Amino acid sequence: MRKILIVGAGQAGLQLALGLRAEGYEVTLMSARTPEEIRTGWPTSTQAMFDLSLNTERAYGLNHWEDQAPPIHGLRPQLSVEKGRLALAFNAPLERPAQSTDQRIKMAHWLEAAEERGIEVIYNAVTTQDLDAITQLGRYDLTVVAAGKGDLVAMFDRDPARSPYTEPQRGLAVAYVHGLEPDPEWPEPHVGFHALPGLGELFVIPALTHTGPCDILFWEAIPGGPLDRWAGHTGRMVPEEHLEITLELIREHLPWVAARAANVRLTDDKATLHGRYTPTVRQPVGHLPGGGRVLGLADVVIANDPITGQGSNTAAKAANHYLRAVLARGDQPFDEQWMTDTFEAFWTAHGQAVTGWTNAMLQPLPPHVQQLLGASTQNEEIARRFAAGFNDPNDLLNWFVDPEKAAAYLAEVNGA
Ligand SMILES: Cc1cc2nc3c(=O)[nH]c(=O)nc-3n(C[C@H](O)[C@H](O)[C@H](O)COP(=O)(O)OP(=O)(O)OC[C@H]3O[C@@H](n4cnc5c(N)ncnc54)[C@H](O)[C@@H]3O)c2cc1C
Repeated sequence: MRKILIVGAGQAGLQLALGLRAEGYEVTLMSARTPEEIRTGWPTSTQAMFDLSLNTERAYGLNHWEDQAPPIHGLRPQLSVEKGRLALAFNAPLERPAQSTDQRIKMAHWLEAAEERGIEVIYNAVTTQDLDAITQLGRYDLTVVAAGKGDLVAMFDRDPARSPYTEPQRGLAVAYVHGLEPDPEWPEPHVGFHALPGLGELFVIPALTHTGPCDILFWEAIPGGPLDRWAGHTGRMVPEEHLEITLELIREHLPWVAARAANVRLTDDKATLHGRYTPTVRQPVGHLPGGGRVLGLADVVIANDPITGQGSNTAAKAANHYLRAVLARGDQPFDEQWMTDTFEAFWTAHGQAVTGWTNAMLQPLPPHVQQLLGASTQNEEIARRFAAGFNDPNDLLNWFVDPEKAAAYLAEVNGA
């Protein structure tokens, strides 16, 4: 029986561990935090996940919150031209609903399930030195590092050709709230995507948290700009103060959202998160001093800005891709070439499109994208195709991110 070690119990690490276990592998999982610490901790994401990614969870019976999480029926992009003045808005329905289940609930539960299903779980904040010692003992056939954006990424070299940014492109500020009134323009649960050119974005995301269905108010602020009000706060902020800044900015820039937010309150006493990071793609294989080789998974090797809400989706798809690659490998060694090939196949199938699109969305919207968004207000087919891109970003390469293809598509839908 092949033995696999996975470091990191997040979306990717847990999903891969549970999938491998279900397929009969002997799995050891190292987690920096216990289920109770995760459950009673601070939020880590807004984690909106689309159908293709949810299917990878459903395939292994991991979709425990299907009936409780609000079904997200689509996105409603809204573009402001100046403070409080809306230039453009449209509904972009999804074929099948998305969902956002608070990672505090999901990861705590999956970690308990891992123990119940016979995965050896070791609670330890693993260091590079630990991994060096572990890989030299040769106990595992394969070691996968799925530890998110933490210190262990230092083992994996940055890939400059795939990483255009050297600094964070947004300050991120998240507040989980109850009491937000439904959007009168589209009362069903959907993601409100409010773009403020030159300043940043506000996302309003329906989600499931400890206290039931809620909304997440998520500001993405261009660093140094007027929305970047969390920049000076390096440690944790008093959650009520965080919420007050969130609402102040909403009142100032998005009065139609403020009108829905009169009775907003935090969902719990740890309902906020703020921070920033540099979008980075890394080389997939980490080399340890003693000669050990480890394979990076999800955020470790592809950490995109959350502006397109894709990180958890990419993590789920990557976990599924790696799982298939392990199964297909049979009894052959998980050597460095296999590790590189596994990542490169994932990069080609998914990583490249999602990374290119996400990095483009961090820039001012180019004229062809403005044109496409404008056309979406008149034509639901375009709006639907835009929404479908969040489920499968590969399609966006065929029309959205390329000015010539965008023009050809617009001519086609306009019957030219
Ligand atoms: C503000 C914000 C909003 C987001 N919104 C969305 C969204 O709407 N949709 C979406 O798809 N994605 C979103 N994302 C991205 C998404 O949350 C991540 O991409 C996803 O969680 C990555 O999964 P992962 O398993 O790679 O890493 P993580 O979820 O970060 O999990 C890594 C795990 O490893 C553990 N760990 C770290 N270091 C060690 C160590 N040394 N030893 C042992 N364990 C360790 C951590 O404690 C953690 O449990 C958002 C991210 C942020 C920050």
